[in-house]
Amino acid sequence: MSLAENLHRIKNSLPPQVSLVAISKTKPVHDIREVFEAGQTDFGENKVQEMTSKQAELPAQIQWHQVGHLQSNKVKYLAPYVHLIHSIDSLKLLEEVNRQALKNNRIIGVLLQMHIAREESKFGMDEQELRILLENAETMGGIQIRGLMGMATNSDNELLVASEFSGLRKLFDQYRQEFQYHPRCDWQHLSMGMSGDYPIAIEEGSTMIRVGSAIFGHR
Ligand SMILES: *Cc1c(COP(=O)(O)O)cnc(C)c1O
Repeated sequence: MSLAENLHRIKNSLPPQVSLVAISKTKPVHDIREVFEAGQTDFGENKVQEMTSKQAELPAQIQWHQVGHLQSNKVKYLAPYVHLIHSIDSLKLLEEVNRQALKNNRIIGVLLQMHIAREESKFGMDEQELRILLENAETMGGIQIRGLMGMATNSDNELLVASEFSGLRKLFDQYRQEFQYHPRCDWQHLSMGMSGDYPIAIEEGSTMIRVGSAIFGHR
């Protein structure tokens, strides 16, 4: 199947409240262009340098999402153009995004990444870190917190994956309610689900899925 067919098959299966970020990491610019021309405007990458060089070559209508772990010293490169950062996993990183956003006269949208998987290696915060971050974010005029993100355990155990996603959905609903008047929050997105688990994520309340290999093929 062509990349456009892959895209349309997935898009046509999504409920209206779920948006799609096409994860194009390691894939060449001409593949991204093909998917863009098939109607996809949101693309995600996990390496700042790779995203920045692709961004310079591709149409300005593309909205770029940072999905992988982000080092503070790289924020300055994506701050001029990034649409949404899915991987805020510390107060220190958020402070740097705020600083660079203000330098660029922008308000940068961010998602707070929560640790929901069993694996130690997956990045993300626990609830205590989340609360401290939210308290400290009140005065950050360069950022807008648009929701939460999480990655489930990489496992065939669908019950485990579903319970991790469902736990994150509960957290999202709870914090959206409790922090509805937080001056830097606008709780729109719950980013969860990748090629291998997005149907489960949608079942459990995802509003934004990040799909790479199911569109672009294996990496
Ligand atoms: C690579 C990546 C994806 C997409 O993974 P696929 O399995 O190719 O769909 C989604 N989210 C993050 C954070 C990623 O790094």
